[in-house]
Amino acid sequence: MVITGGCHCGAVRYQVDGDALTHALCHCTDCRRHAGAPMVAWTMYPIDLVKVTKGTPKVYASSDHGRRHFCADCGTGLFFSNAQVLPGIIDIQSATYDDPDAVPARAHIQVADRIGWMAQAHELPQFDRYPPHE
Ligand SMILES: [Zn+2]
Ligand SMILES: [Zn+2]
Repeated sequence: MVITGGCHCGAVRYQVDGDALTHALCHCTDCRRHAGAPMVAWTMYPIDLVKVTKGTPKVYASSDHGRRHFCADCGTGLFFSNAQVLPGIIDIQSATYDDPDAVPARAHIQVADRIGWMAQAHELPQFDRYPPHE
């Protein structure tokens, strides 16, 4: 399966040719803070399958060996790598796929750090756009 994606402004684009090893929704504190979002969806690939086809992501050391790769122009988080814990592996923020439905999520991880209300988030009222005005 060939997957393409990129950041919000289009300065960084990437292509993946192959199948994801897994797809997890991560609730850890580092993901939450770096993304500014309650959780981050990650697909995991052998690093050789992932090619940056446009631009160069900026790399931020979010822990001793954890590296977060993001667009320096628009701030979109794109990749995570950790050569110590996961050598030869790269994670992609799957919400940056051109087709974010291409690979279904398989698990929630790091739920020990999850925001309390996120556990029941799927039970909240849902609107196609916004709630109606009174
Ligand atoms: Zn960008
Ligand atoms: Zn995380």
